[in-house]
Amino acid sequence: MDREDLVVVAGAGGFIGGHLVKHLVERGHTQVRAIDVKPLHEWHQVVPEAESRLLDLRERIDAGAALQGARYVFNLAADMGGMGFIETNRALCMLSVLINTHLLLAAAEQEVDRYFYASSACVYAAGKQDSYTPEPLAEADAYPAMPEDGYGWEKLFSERMCRHFREDYRVPTRIARYHNVYGPLGTWTGGREKAPAAICRKVAEAVIRGDHTIKIWGDGRQARSFTFIDDCLEGTVRLTESDYGDPLNIGSSELVSIDGLVDVVEEIAGVTLARTYEPDAPRGVNGRNSDNTLVRAVLDWEPSTSLRHGLEVTYRWVYDQVKSGSGVARPVTRALSTIRQ
Ligand code: NAD
Repeated sequence: MDREDLVVVAGAGGFIGGHLVKHLVERGHTQVRAIDVKPLHEWHQVVPEAESRLLDLRERIDAGAALQGARYVFNLAADMGGMGFIETNRALCMLSVLINTHLLLAAAEQEVDRYFYASSACVYAAGKQDSYTPEPLAEADAYPAMPEDGYGWEKLFSERMCRHFREDYRVPTRIARYHNVYGPLGTWTGGREKAPAAICRKVAEAVIRGDHTIKIWGDGRQARSFTFIDDCLEGTVRLTESDYGDPLNIGSSELVSIDGLVDVVEEIAGVTLARTYEPDAPRGVNGRNSDNTLVRAVLDWEPSTSLRHGLEVTYRWVYDQVKSGSGVARPVTRALSTIRQ
C-alpha cells in the first residue's frame, strides 16, 4: 500500500477499527479517513492524525461519500457483539449486509486498489463445532453452510458478495475470518462484550468488591481460541497487501476452555473465585479453533501472542476501567431505533 494514498477505515469508532487507524498512521500512512455512525465521544479511540467522519454506511449516499478518493478500503463496520448480543439481535446483525453492499458498490465506482472485509469464524458450519475438543477449522469447513444464525449468515453472504464483486466488477477484495479478537480498548461492558473482556471485568469486579465469586455463562467447558489485537492488525495488513482473494483465517490456534480462561485471569489477578455456572445463558458452539495451515502458507505468518501475555495486558486495562467506573454502554437498540424514525 502506498503511504501517500487515501485509506478509508469503516467502523473506525469500534474496537478493531480504532486500533487499525492508529496502526496505519504509525506505519506512515499520511491520509487515513476514519468513518463511523456513532458520535465521536463514543469511539473507542479517536486518532488525531486521521480525518474522522460520522456517516451511516447503511445508506448508499453515505457509503459513496466515505470512499470519495479512496485507494484502499477496510470494512470493519458492523452491528455486532459477543454471544449475548448476537443471539438476541439476529435481524440487526443481518442488516449489516447493507453496509458491505453499499461499500462494495462505492468501491467498484471508485476503482479502488484493495477492499478488505472483516468476516468471522461464526461462518463455520455448526456441525463441525459440537465437540469440546474440536478439530481446528480450515477455510473449507464453512461449507456445506450452516453458520451462526443471523450474524454468521450475514458474514457468509457478504464474503460471497466480495468474491463476486472481485470476479464480476474487478474489485480486489480480501477476506479475513477473525477468531475472537480481544485486547485493550475492547468492549468490556454494556451487553456487546465478548468472553475475554467479560471474564476480565468479572474478575476485576470481584477483586475490587472483595466478593470472591464469579458467574460463568454455560458450563465452562466451551472451548475457543482468542486472538490478541496486535496479531489481528498484523494479519489484516498482510492479507490486504497479499494477492490472496479467498477467505483466510486470522486467529490464534491456542485452544482454551472458558474455565481455562478464568484460570488464567485469576492467576494474573492473584485470586481464586468461587464459580457458579449459568447453563441457560448464551454460550455459542461447544468448541471452535483456527486451523492455520493456509494462513502460514499464504502469508508466511500466523498469530503468535500467547493467551497469557494478551490477557495480562487486557486485564490490566479492564481493571483500570472498572476501578474508574468509566463504562459507558451503547444501547443495543440504537440501530433499530434509527431505522424506525
Ligand atoms: P465494534 O462493534 O467495536 O466495531 C464496529 C463499528 O462499526 C462500531 O463502532 C459501529 O458503530 C460501526 N458501525 C455499525 N453500523 C455502522 C454504520 N451503519 N455505519 C458506520 N459505522 C457503523 O466491532 P469490532 O470488534 O471492532 O469488529 C470489527 C469487525 O470485525 C466487525 O465487522 C466484526 O463483525 C468483525 N469481527 C470481529 C471479531 C471480534 O472478536 N471483535 C470477530 C470476528 C469478526
